[in-house]
Amino acid sequence: MNTSPTILTLLISALAVIFFITGGAPALGADTSAPNKESENNFRQQRMKMIRQQLRARGIENPEILAAFEKVPRHRFVPERLKKYAYQDRPLPIGEDQTISQPYIVALMTRSIEPKKTDQILEIGTGSGYQAAILAELSDQVYTIEIIESLAESARRALSESGYENVFVKTGDGFKGWPEHAPFDAIVVTCSPEKVPEPLKDQLAEGGRMVIPVGQKYDQNLVLLEKKEGQLIKKQILPVRFVPMVDEKGRTY
Ligand code: SAH
Repeated sequence: MNTSPTILTLLISALAVIFFITGGAPALGADTSAPNKESENNFRQQRMKMIRQQLRARGIENPEILAAFEKVPRHRFVPERLKKYAYQDRPLPIGEDQTISQPYIVALMTRSIEPKKTDQILEIGTGSGYQAAILAELSDQVYTIEIIESLAESARRALSESGYENVFVKTGDGFKGWPEHAPFDAIVVTCSPEKVPEPLKDQLAEGGRMVIPVGQKYDQNLVLLEKKEGQLIKKQILPVRFVPMVDEKGRTY
């Protein structure tokens, strides 16, 4: 009478252990990894839809550029709570009163500078790091400058977590460019000064392209400048609204 319940208890415990090791443990493992894989797939689907509806439908057709947008995980460049909106047709807040640009604008700016693999590119206004990641898919070296330290820090983290080792992020005032690495084959400016900064003009290589939103607050034009025989040739792209370019004291340029 005394032995059988003990044996039964042992047997049940042993079965429980076996169940846990063989059935329970893999099931637990599967439970924790499944949602991640599932959400990555889900983000991939949203990304493909973004490419179709926001880029292709608006005339972005260059296969290398579309492939870059397919690869870069935009959701990793936005704050955690906004991940679900990452692929929507709009800019999103990234903290410090700044925004990650709308996907179409990133595509338009990227296309306008016609990036090549061997190009060395300078970006002013790292923000989230998303535009830099897109450029890093297309060109060997991307230098990017952000004036707000905390944004530069989180962009560095997002870029390295996504495996970008060819992007160099500096905290500082991009108005002055990055003379140590000049000249640049292309310059992408994602904050708006009233006039094109002289140092950026100087740091653009012969044959280089610069895309920049210039103008007053809320009344800017995205322009493309191409350096030919030392002269800048200007083309208007479209009216835009970017955050202002500011100096280290917060004064607008
Ligand atoms: N390219 C970014 C969008 C950036 S928004 C992206 O893909 O997410 C513009 C950024 O320019 C802001 O983060 C702002 O802090 C930065 N900025 C403003 N003035 C600047 C300056 N003088 N030098 C460098 N960055 C500047």
